[in-house]
Amino acid sequence: MTVRDILQIGHPTLRQRAAPVVVDAITSSEIQNLITDLIDTMHSANGAGIAANQIGIPLRVAVMEVADNPRYPYKPTLPLTVVINPEITFLTPAQVDDPDGPETVVINEGCLSVPLRGDVTRQVNIAVHYDDAEGNLHEEIKRGLTAGTWQHECDHLDGVLFVDRVNDPTTLTTWDEFQINGRDAFIERITAFVERIGS
Ligand code: ZN
Repeated sequence: MTVRDILQIGHPTLRQRAAPVVVDAITSSEIQNLITDLIDTMHSANGAGIAANQIGIPLRVAVMEVADNPRYPYKPTLPLTVVINPEITFLTPAQVDDPDGPETVVINEGCLSVPLRGDVTRQVNIAVHYDDAEGNLHEEIKRGLTAGTWQHECDHLDGVLFVDRVNDPTTLTTWDEFQINGRDAFIERITAFVERIGS
């Protein structure tokens, strides 16, 4: 088990576009050790996800997991997922058989590499394809906050941080101020959203 240091905003590797992993290399000890370190580091920091460039490795690998997360108590469960070379396609509500559903949602996001939270508009419905830790290709649809987590992690692999997508900088808060001033209203709104979308 290796808990790695997490790079903080300002470090150039966070701004680098990560390189694809050659599919035949996924089962190599280099990539398997990277996956283990990402999972250990995410667990240690109570993150909902972490991308390889956040620990200084500019490869297109990320992990996600949400299970009773104290940083994000409103997030629905997301089983441990290893994603390699992920691609996202935005879908319309009609494409997911929810024509009256929302196309976008404003999510108050945090990040292990940024000491602030802030409001980001994310797509509600996405199609993803990616290789897993064994090199098997997956094609799936993700919705709601889970889709938001996917967009956040895939942004990392392109050198993008959530602060780049904050349209209203006045929504930026420290975690302590969010607890006092933003948390209750956000949780009320986002809980209704999660119940509506089911994710
Ligand atoms: Zn992040």
